Amino acid sequence: MTRRVSSIALAIALFVAVSGAQTRIVPPANKYSPQQDVELGRDAAAQARQELPLLRDDNVTSYVDELGKRLVTGIPRDFEQAAFAYTFEAVNIRDINAFALPGGPMFVNRGMIEAASAEGEVAGVMAHEISHVVLRHGTAQASKATKYQAGQIAGAIFGAIIGGRVGDVIAQGASFGLGTAFLRFGREYERQADLLGAQILARVGYDAREMANMFRTIEKSGGGSGPEWLSSHPNPGNRSEYITKEAQSLRIENPLGPSPRFERVKAHLKSLPRAPSSEEVAKNRPTAASGTGGATRPPAGNVPAPSTRQRQYTAGNVFRVSVPSNWNQSQSSSSVTYAPPGAVGAHNGQSIFTHGVEFGVAENMGRDLRRASEALIDSLSRGNPQMRARGDFANTDLGGRPALVRRMTNVSDATRQDEAVQVLTTMLADGSLFYGIAVVPEAQYSQYLDTFERVFASVRFLR
Ligand SMILES: [Zn+2]
Repeated sequence: MTRRVSSIALAIALFVAVSGAQTRIVPPANKYSPQQDVELGRDAAAQARQELPLLRDDNVTSYVDELGKRLVTGIPRDFEQAAFAYTFEAVNIRDINAFALPGGPMFVNRGMIEAASAEGEVAGVMAHEISHVVLRHGTAQASKATKYQAGQIAGAIFGAIIGGRVGDVIAQGASFGLGTAFLRFGREYERQADLLGAQILARVGYDAREMANMFRTIEKSGGGSGPEWLSSHPNPGNRSEYITKEAQSLRIENPLGPSPRFERVKAHLKSLPRAPSSEEVAKNRPTAASGTGGATRPPAGNVPAPSTRQRQYTAGNVFRVSVPSNWNQSQSSSSVTYAPPGAVGAHNGQSIFTHGVEFGVAENMGRDLRRASEALIDSLSRGNPQMRARGDFANTDLGGRPALVRRMTNVSDATRQDEAVQVLTTMLADGSLFYGIAVVPEAQYSQYLDTFERVFASVRFLR
């Protein structure tokens, strides 16, 4: 069939180089805008920073940062994106891994540097990661996945409390916000990242064969410390061969010699206490980003007072909000919650929180704000049978849109005490219902009123 023939022709155009010349790489089709890459990556990076033990050691971090910036100068002009901001952070984990998020934030495990035998090997993996960002593979992948489309990128990280359709998608990608959904690539993208990575390496002075060396090291570590990287970057087959072939077609204008700095950083790492494995980190994580926050117990409800400093978050391209800087973001399959440490936990397998604000989007609730809001509250009441309204809906404003607010009371499953609940609702342009639910023990309600007001007043919609 015609279609099939043309796609084979395209594949050949993508990967077969004119003999002796470097391979011309064509970025895959993408339905998202570069700005969406930036927003998604920023959001996921904020979450990664909360979940991962960043290595705060200037010796290492400045090295990783400088190495990354050098590679960025090797990105071919045609692929530059003005909106992208490449950042490089070191993670104190001993597994050989690194990942980059849409728009540019990159995280490099300490184990990657420890396992490398030359600077060019670390640079090789980083150049490969940069290439995924440059070619916008994360969102290109999301563009392909028809079930994520539904008109909104929002669905990929942000869902509906009612009807699990969108929520299921979030649950899959919840571990680093977009983690699995956006970072697991197919062979075609792997090959592209290898080849563009090789070109970037040569442009800044590295021999691209060192990238192939590092991949071999990762593969050899097999059951040990590299499988995480391999599971998101599968070997497309004969990786070493085609990288070597590409390397032979590339001219290195200003070859870099061996790096004394690399040796010093490695020696320094040896002097530090051994890094934990990613498994150990996951096990000891107090609250994970997904579902019940990894907790199996109800939260005790003893929390620090809200900080007067604010921290801004962007949730997908749905909205932006500022919350007290000592509140953490966590995502469930259906919503995003901002809560102080100690406020989130689980009860009967359900995620619950004692203090904080939860936001979500409910679809198919009809276009009438009041009726949709009543239906939302009915559904909340099913999960919280002791929830009662205190007074009727009142008119308010949320992110510049007409909204309703209703004051409720409930009995907390966690503490068995009365809790105050405020539900704000507004219609988004696409007809879905956006809600915010503020929760605090009734006895502390007056102390939190200002905080809740400030949080709700900061909401800005992005679609
Ligand atoms: Zn890859």
